[in-house]
Amino acid sequence: MSQLLEGKTALILGVANRWSLAYAIARAFIRENAEVILTYQGDRQKQTVEELAAELKARQVLPCDVTQDAQVDALADMLRKDLKGQGRVLNAVVHSIAFANREDLSRPFVETSRSGFALAQDVSAYSLVAVARATAPLMAPADHNGNSGAHQNGGSIMTLTYLGSTRVVENYNVMGVAKAALEASVRYLAADLGPCNIRVNAISAGAVKTTSARGIRDLSKMIEGGAKMAPLRRNTDPAEVADTAVFLASDLGRGVTGNVIYVDAGMQIMGFALKE
Ligand code: NAP
Repeated sequence: MSQLLEGKTALILGVANRWSLAYAIARAFIRENAEVILTYQGDRQKQTVEELAAELKARQVLPCDVTQDAQVDALADMLRKDLKGQGRVLNAVVHSIAFANREDLSRPFVETSRSGFALAQDVSAYSLVAVARATAPLMAPADHNGNSGAHQNGGSIMTLTYLGSTRVVENYNVMGVAKAALEASVRYLAADLGPCNIRVNAISAGAVKTTSARGIRDLSKMIEGGAKMAPLRRNTDPAEVADTAVFLASDLGRGVTGNVIYVDAGMQIMGFALKE
């Protein structure tokens, strides 16, 4: 164990089950000795996330539906009280959340409804802005003069994205457009929060079979094709996505902000492959 996150506290949003990328990230953070706080969206997921948290030895489990401003604010308030009691600050936030209507991930993109487009943007892109605004003050608390904490503490915010943001990936559709907005949000947030020593990055993961990903039509074909085409000739392992998240949360990543880091067995460099 290298203990890269010793003394750090991380908030991880988006653990649904053992297959979630956020679960792999939580495991890796705990392996590196971070204190981890998980969230769940609603009562439907509460028990599952609490059980996973107990098994992982996560410090706390809190509710947060990211489409509800009041819940995002309440999450920040609960964290503020807890951290203050512990004499700690928040060091890292992992945003591993996305949603689109199933029909928008199977029919042609041109058929996307106004409401389906807005929903995907709200949950999958805007929520990063809301979460960053609520949690940044916990990473760089204001000093006694009310100035936000440039170079006092700082921290690392990261989100999960996919290649469909910049390339057309069949059936990814409305989620690709939401990921494009998410990646642009990463850059604007990095510019805003950089003076407080808060870094904001995205990890672009290769396709992995998770509950959300199963909503994409022909996901299995995408995963099989990817393994044949990627330079490393295999699919992405959630554990390698998680290790990149550890790097970004740790002091090793201190100079990296506003980036999209691809952890996809090299898939993103490929144009057209003639042989397997
Ligand atoms: P996942 O396990 O299904 O995780 C998605 C999470 O988003 C779930 O915990 C879900 O909670 C949560 N969520 C959805 N709407 C929410 C809301 N309104 N408030 C709070 N939480 C909400 O799937 P995943 O693949 O690990 O996805 C995590 C992230 O990785 C997503 O951003 C996804 O786009 C990205 N990503 C995935 C892949 C892949 O191939 N799997 C590749 C690249 C990037 P509920 O279960 O309660 O709905």
